[in-house]
Amino acid sequence: MSTKNRALSETIKKMSKTIFRGKYMKCPQCHRYKLVIGNAEPVCEHCEYTGEAADVTRDWVTNVYRVSEYGAIKRGDEWPISECPECEQESLVHFVRRKGESGPAGFLCFSCEEVWPEGRLKQCDGCQRFRKPEELEDAVYCNECTRRAIGSF
Ligand SMILES: [Zn+2]
Ligand SMILES: [Zn+2]
Ligand SMILES: [Zn+2]
Repeated sequence: MSTKNRALSETIKKMSKTIFRGKYMKCPQCHRYKLVIGNAEPVCEHCEYTGEAADVTRDWVTNVYRVSEYGAIKRGDEWPISECPECEQESLVHFVRRKGESGPAGFLCFSCEEVWPEGRLKQCDGCQRFRKPEELEDAVYCNECTRRAIGSF
């Protein structure tokens, strides 16, 4: 197994131990492990809570992961949701290992269920979005920001 795949499977293993119960995640509404992600509209099989991936991600981060947008701004913490470089939905969650925790570190998209280990995505200096390393290999700006900069000349 390559280093890359090993890091990936470690991340997935950690995530499945702490965030998932089987294929289920904790539902932000009924708090049971009945939320199925991995499509445009994740759904809870218990309380039938559902919504667009971006809204579900926001609810989950606030009610389950317990990071609030307000707190993030106030304390200067990172707001963990950004655009997924794979499916371009606002449903990519960045898991950071918080003090005293052994949880996963890495990225999980609630919409396409893609996973990246910590450090595998690069942050664009322009839009602060996480991009695939191929796109930012030697650059600090992603394609979109570069295009926008060229267009504004
Ligand atoms: Zn539910
Ligand atoms: Zn995605
Ligand atoms: Zn950018």
